[in-house]
Amino acid sequence: MNRFLKIFFILFLYSCQTNNVNNEINIYSQRHYAVDELQYKNFTEETGIKINVTKANADELIQRLKLEGESSPADLFITVDVGKLWQAGDMNLLQKINDSTVTKNIDKNFLDPNDYWVPVTYRSRIIVYSNERVKENELSTYEDLANEKWKNRLLIRSSSNSYNQALMSSLIANLGSDLAEYWSRKIVDNLARDPKGNDRDQVKAIAAGQGDIAVVNSYYIGLLLSSEKDEELEAGKAVSVFFPNQAEGERGAHINVSGIALTKNSPNKENAMKLIKYLTSPKAQQTYVDNTYEYSVIPSIEPNEIVKNWGNFKKDNLDLNMLGSKRNEAVRIFDKSGWK
Ligand code: FE
Repeated sequence: MNRFLKIFFILFLYSCQTNNVNNEINIYSQRHYAVDELQYKNFTEETGIKINVTKANADELIQRLKLEGESSPADLFITVDVGKLWQAGDMNLLQKINDSTVTKNIDKNFLDPNDYWVPVTYRSRIIVYSNERVKENELSTYEDLANEKWKNRLLIRSSSNSYNQALMSSLIANLGSDLAEYWSRKIVDNLARDPKGNDRDQVKAIAAGQGDIAVVNSYYIGLLLSSEKDEELEAGKAVSVFFPNQAEGERGAHINVSGIALTKNSPNKENAMKLIKYLTSPKAQQTYVDNTYEYSVIPSIEPNEIVKNWGNFKKDNLDLNMLGSKRNEAVRIFDKSGWK
């Protein structure tokens, strides 16, 4: 009897262990939006798989993956900037995702030709302008933000931010380093104040009369316009959205993707793949669109009503991996031109 109990106990322990292994996913995430908790909650309800999230900035998470090596608990790396996904792939911290059931519904323009990451949403880095002090026809391109007419009127956050580094990477890829550096110096000359705060703060500064135009990610305007805080709602209402570089022959507005990647040593790979499939499913894509005002990577899923009102826009179809491969050059240019 004792022996049977012993065997039973060993089997019990074993089942606990496999259960544990099978029912978790560990995520290292740079995303910072409330919708993510909702997505994970829905996924856990559907599958019984528990999700643990470690949030930090992308550079910290990449360093952590590198230091932890084979003993890393992380299964998935999620970023708000494709450049950081490219970097993690370049540092040999990821494994390829070769699964057509994941990618078949996704717009081909957003896919990684190297299969190291899968896009989850996309966003554009747009110009917003004061409804009181700027007319739409005064705006045209990112390049035109270097024009002297914007002296002391332009608001944009610090150059240490991923979104700005991705935008600068796109300018280097599209215009070359010399023009990108010239542009960067002129932007610094035109700033209404030293860079500070996040994207939302730039819009609030326009509402407060501290500047007239700002460069921000598109969904923040949706978030402000749907906010329950008066200050945010008023800020959202004080500006209009402008997609740059739309004229005939222009390359289109800069876009970036928020994406997901499978880590090289993912301990719960099967579960991790389930979550990747879930987050790129029509149901989860609709949840993103309705809660963060990002754009879906599935073409048939329409933007939220607020976003739809801004109309369709032409997207810069630059190879997204360039937003990573040009990153070091982008940081060098920011430093050289004195963009804090
Ligand atoms: Fe963001």
